[in-house]
Amino acid sequence: MMCVHCGGRLQRGTAPFHADRAGYHVHWDAVPAWVCSQCGEAAFDSEEVDAIQAALSSLDAHAQQLAKASSQLE
Ligand SMILES: [Zn+2]
Repeated sequence: MMCVHCGGRLQRGTAPFHADRAGYHVHWDAVPAWVCSQCGEAAFDSEEVDAIQAALSSLDAHAQQLAKASSQLE
């Protein structure tokens, strides 16, 4: 696999990933990824992207609950 940014070689490793959502932020320290040996850019397999999206959609549902509960306090 080649890096889309610099053409360097991608190696199996881990990379941090963060997502800014409405009202909260998520940060994973180490997600399995392909990391460029040249520029350090990370690419995620669809398997990991799917897992992240599943985690976020579950978090979204609970975050909505919390947002609703906190808005009733005001
Ligand atoms: Zn690169």
